[in-house]
Order: sequence, then C-alpha cells, then structure tokens
Amino acid sequence: MTLETNILDRCCVVLVETSHPGNIGGVARAMKTMGLSDLRLVSPKKFPHAEASARAAGAADLLHTAKVFATLSDAVVDCGLVLATSARDRTISWPTLDPREAAGRAMAQAVQSPVAIVFGSERVGLTNKQLDLCHALVQIPANPDYSSLNLSAAAQVICYELRVATLSAGGKTGVEQKDHIPAGSGEFDLFFDHLLKVLTQLEFLDPDNPRQLERRLRRMFNRMQPDTIELNILRGILTAAQQKAGVRE
Ligand code: SAH
Repeated sequence: MTLETNILDRCCVVLVETSHPGNIGGVARAMKTMGLSDLRLVSPKKFPHAEASARAAGAADLLHTAKVFATLSDAVVDCGLVLATSARDRTISWPTLDPREAAGRAMAQAVQSPVAIVFGSERVGLTNKQLDLCHALVQIPANPDYSSLNLSAAAQVICYELRVATLSAGGKTGVEQKDHIPAGSGEFDLFFDHLLKVLTQLEFLDPDNPRQLERRLRRMFNRMQPDTIELNILRGILTAAQQKAGVRE
C-alpha cells in the first residue's frame, strides 16, 4: 500500500441526515474514484436502499462498509480535524477555506489523526449546532447567484482536491509534528462540557441565555486544536477552580 493510499484512508466523508439514498450512492462512487473509502452516515433517511446501490455502481462495497451513527459527534469522535462543507455564508463567521486549502490542511493532519469532511442534508445543509463541532468551513467557490451543488457533486470536488493534494506532494505530507497531535473530538467534548459546567457554576454563563458565548469559546478552542496533555491541564485548572469555589466537580 502506498503512502498516498494511507493518507486518503485517513480521510472520512460524513453525510448528515441525507434524504435521497441515490445521493449516498453517488457520494460512494465519488469517493472510490478518488481513492477514499471511509464513509460515515449520520441518521440517513433511507439506508440501505436499492437506489443507493444503483448510483454507487462499482463502489457498492463502500456502502457495505459504511458506518451509521445517531449523531455527528458520535461520527467524528476519533477525528483530530473536522471540516464542514457549506454552500452559504453564515452569520457568525467560522474560518472558511476553499477546497484546495482544505485539502492541504487535511493532508497535513491525516498523518496524525483521522480527518472528517462533513456534508449537510440536501434541504437544510448543516445546522449551527453541527458546525460547532467543526474546525473550519469549506466553501466551493461556485456561482454566487446559484451556489448550491448537488451533494454528490460537492463530494466529488472535495475528494478530487484531496487526491490531487496527496498525489502532488508525492506522498509527502509536510512536517510530521509528533509533539502536537490534536485530541480527538470525543476528548474535546468532555473538556468543553466541563468548561461550560464550571462557567455556569461560577455564574459567568447563564445557561438560559448563553447568547454567543458558548459558540465563540468553542470556536476559539477549536482553532487551537489542543492535544490530550493540554486538555488535561485545562481540566485540572477547571477542577482547581471548582474546589476553590466550593462547588462539585
Ligand atoms: N440548501 C442547503 C444546501 C444543501 S446542498 C443549504 O442552503 O445549505 C447539500 C450539501 O452539499 C451541503 O450541505 C454541503 O455539504 C454541500 N455543498 C453544496 N454546495 C456546496 C458549495 N458550494 N460548497 C461547499 N459545499 C457545498
């Protein structure tokens, strides 16, 4: 197995609440033609389905190995980098990459931990709550008057860029920073829940009126991509604050 294949093996495609099974098949085909294989489905409306298999054609094996999850956070629990694709601008600005930049980031990260590229549903795309789990947005610079691509067409563009980035680096994926391996998103969520609990206990955060505080904090920590040791230090600080304030852990 070549290094190129290894890198692409570490990039998974996550489809959230897909309505049309044909699109799931189309994405499987888009992935396999570009050398990706890890397909993850979050609450698909209809799956498995004959239409998915028909559209997948020779990529039906990806449908057989696809994993189904109840929530997006379950689907990306092992991923150190989570990129969300979006057709439109969002009111609160997430860092936004074009597909080429995203492929570069993904490649550099995949050496260390799995990378997820997340796609929304045909009708509504991704919710802000789902975007909170992501490190950055990826926007295909389409016609501003009509920017919404079909789901499997969007997946084809992203998977193509991942392949080109991997091939043009000749399998070299940049500096391997062994001393900084971002924690998986499961560990990150545990830290973030702890942070919100402490901020609520300290009455800094009103859980009935969190406004944008929660989202801004999440974005800030997502940008940093803390590793396991750093998360443990932060959690130690939170526990110390709880002890001093005389509140329960
Ligand atoms: N009506 C939805 C669009 C759904 S298209 C909306 O307004 O968000 C289905 C999915 O395809 C999107 O959630 C996104 O994952 C992907 N997609 C479509 N067009 C895209 C674009 N121009 N850039 C990035 N992703 C796109």
